Amino acid sequence: MYDVVVVGGGPSGATAALDLVQSGHKVAMIDRDGRIKPCGGAIPPRLMEDFDIKDDQLVAKVNTARMISPSGRHVDIPIENGFVGMVDRKDFDPFLRARAKQAGAHCFTGTFLRIEREGKDRFVLYRDKESGEERKLQTRLIIGADGARSKVARQEVPGGDKIPYVLAYHEIIEAPAATETYDPTRCDVIYDGKISPDFYGWIFPHGGTTSVGMGTIVTDVDLKQATADLRASAGLSDCRTLRREGAPIPLKPMKFWDNANDVVLAGDAAGVVAPSSGEGIYYAMVGGRVAATAAAATLASGKIANLGLARKLFMREHKQVFKVLGAMQNAYYRSDERRERFVSLCHDVDVQKLTFEAYMNKKLVAARPMAHLKIGIKNLAHLSGLVATTRV
Ligand SMILES: Cc1cc2nc3c(=O)[nH]c(=O)nc-3n(C[C@H](O)[C@H](O)[C@H](O)COP(=O)(O)OP(=O)(O)OC[C@H]3O[C@@H](n4cnc5c(N)ncnc54)[C@H](O)[C@@H]3O)c2cc1C
Repeated sequence: MYDVVVVGGGPSGATAALDLVQSGHKVAMIDRDGRIKPCGGAIPPRLMEDFDIKDDQLVAKVNTARMISPSGRHVDIPIENGFVGMVDRKDFDPFLRARAKQAGAHCFTGTFLRIEREGKDRFVLYRDKESGEERKLQTRLIIGADGARSKVARQEVPGGDKIPYVLAYHEIIEAPAATETYDPTRCDVIYDGKISPDFYGWIFPHGGTTSVGMGTIVTDVDLKQATADLRASAGLSDCRTLRREGAPIPLKPMKFWDNANDVVLAGDAAGVVAPSSGEGIYYAMVGGRVAATAAAATLASGKIANLGLARKLFMREHKQVFKVLGAMQNAYYRSDERRERFVSLCHDVDVQKLTFEAYMNKKLVAARPMAHLKIGIKNLAHLSGLVATTRV
């Protein structure tokens, strides 16, 4: 009999499992394993601090973000007082799972099938990867951390089958030598309707490899062609392609993260990825942590309502940033004209400081209150077309 069975061993599930074993609970974690999660792998310093991730997990440290507009103009934003870390999910996810296992979580490799209930008893059924047999684990609670299009969410939580998604695709290529156009310490973010009509494209260095990709919600966009175009425009067509892979990125946190009974969701399964950026690793780990907190509170108190703590705790901390990023996406990702204006806005040192502070430390800084006002006015001026786009 487990206290909690965690379904999924990505950043959210592995974090939930680790937190729960460390607080003295009996935990099982089921992951189907065998597929590297398609991901740009960019993580902020706050993640490394909060979840004890050391430098040895990083395959690159990035110190500049280059924002590129539809007309090819760019703004280089220096990342002051720190760096953006790059992880390779091929190694990062197994590391997180091994860490949870070492702490005492029982890890099973297989595919979650369903939850069965007999009176007060609950069982998680999964297909064991090695034997192909159906197996069951008895548990008091379940955390669904099985990623975008979560089976647990679809089966158990209202709205779990209706999460909107951006489809993201990337190619892992052999990194070229550093040149004038390719810098292994720089992330390029491409805002161009030809690459993505409603999101963006990216070139993220991963040490010996590079992730080049894009995302969109528009279903008739040819993701592979858009990525080929992006590679051509960046001079990366001739680099050897090591992997081609795509996956959905959820667009909106679900209204309910639990089933008011015995299941709580975490990470992509709960629809939690930052608007505008698609950043999900940090939020998945926070999601795992708050789901673990909610599960522990429920087990200790016997009050099912405590499962609702997961969403409450998460939203208390991150709702505001999600709101600002959502408004930014709505305002600027609609047309090339808006994208030009957005890149122009990135010239502003206050915009640079605020957005990067929000990314690096997950806080809207209060240090320069006048800067918020100034940015608000600039934002309006740019959107209303009062300010012309700046040429560089
Ligand atoms: C192309 C792309 C690029 C991205 N780039 C970035 C980036 O640069 N930075 C960033 O922060 N975020 C990025 N994201 C988002 C980020 O990858 C996700 O938000 C994050 O991985 C979510 O973590 P998770 O643990 O919730 O889910 P996942 O990482 O998807 O983990 C879910 C786990 O559940 C397991 N699983 C699924 N179904 C079952 C089942 N039925 N039975 C058993 N196990 C199961 C899977 O094996 C997996 O290990 C990107 C996403 C995409 C698609």
